[in-house]
Amino acid sequence: MSFDLVIRNANLVDGRIGLDIGCAGGRIAAIDVQLGGGFQEIDAAGQLVAPPFVDPHFHMDATLSLGRPRLNASGTLLEGIELWGELKQVQTAAEIVERALRYCDLAVAQGLLAIRSHVDVCGTLTGVEALLEVHERVKDYLDLQLVAFPQDGLFRSAGAESNLLQALDRGVDVVGGIPHFERTMQEGDASVARLCAIAAERGLMVDLHCDETDDPNSRHVETLARETLRHGLQGRVTGSHLTSMHSMDDYYVSKLIPLMAESRLNVVANPLINILIQGRHDTYPKRRGLTRVAELQATGLTVAFGSDCVMDPWYPLGTADMLDVASMAIHVGHLSSMEAMRRCFEAVTTEGARVMGLDGYGVAVGKRADLVLLQAGDPIEAIRTRAVRLAVIKAGRLVAESAPRESRLHLGARPERVTPRLT
Ligand SMILES: [Zn+2]
Repeated sequence: MSFDLVIRNANLVDGRIGLDIGCAGGRIAAIDVQLGGGFQEIDAAGQLVAPPFVDPHFHMDATLSLGRPRLNASGTLLEGIELWGELKQVQTAAEIVERALRYCDLAVAQGLLAIRSHVDVCGTLTGVEALLEVHERVKDYLDLQLVAFPQDGLFRSAGAESNLLQALDRGVDVVGGIPHFERTMQEGDASVARLCAIAAERGLMVDLHCDETDDPNSRHVETLARETLRHGLQGRVTGSHLTSMHSMDDYYVSKLIPLMAESRLNVVANPLINILIQGRHDTYPKRRGLTRVAELQATGLTVAFGSDCVMDPWYPLGTADMLDVASMAIHVGHLSSMEAMRRCFEAVTTEGARVMGLDGYGVAVGKRADLVLLQAGDPIEAIRTRAVRLAVIKAGRLVAESAPRESRLHLGARPERVTPRLT
């Protein structure tokens, strides 16, 4: 059998080592020892070949806008929303497209080949228009899924529902919302019910910013699970953030998590943003705010991690590096056992793919030949070193490559070179 591309001597995420991966027609055609020749060959040299990184929670309409029109002085979610409201008045579709494309370039270089981005539909559909164009322009190398997101509240913002429906009519894939930002708890719950009904009518997935607050009484996730069951949307609904769960009492959570399991709710935590934004109203001790990752994983729920923001009104940093996201989750969630760290790698790869409902994702025969060669031997080393993406492959084609990280030392008797792998 002849291949378009063969990657030689690869380690896989599941622990198998020294395998060749043969790609043909954009798919993985064979995984075995010593495959025949390929038109193109890449020597993995015993390093890790993983499926691409997936970011199931991002805001591409806001990315790279840091400082426009001003910086977020308090660092809170609410000032970020206010600031974003000011930027929305002045930014053009062309500016959003230009910033988003620059971000997509960085994402591909980082082996991040699937992104679910929320797009604000309140007040204007400029962002929708811009990101639909970006979706079209990147589709050959990046899976961009869009969520119609009424950032200022479905009920709180005049015209939000009609804009949301228009966005869905134009081809936006997923129904979004933000119940904790509605005027009252009751209106928040009502927004969850309405948004799930819209998704059920149209056969769409749901992804709500849900309970992104330190208030333990913010319990919209309960309503989200209930409405998921009512409409038969099990497995197709995602609760993003769920930070109030961090502050809830254990007795209530012992009832809530089984309900979430019954409705097969997907969970997306955003560790970088959660640790930065939550606890802002606390003096000391300051709460961490990350949702209950280990407990949710233990029930068998899909738990993925998103990056949420890069250089925008809410977050001044970020490099599209999902390994950075996984590392923060390990620290904030006390997820440092070997097994827990491996699961954090899955949370930025396979679990995110499950949330997005990606077809043909994974390193197995018949799957799409979307692969990332990392300067690491295994997933834990990849997280520890924020491994360089030596090669990024989309549909069997090399789309990005980077030089390995190595420093030259001038220490006389010591070795001349050192790499983060320390091997
Ligand atoms: Zn978000």
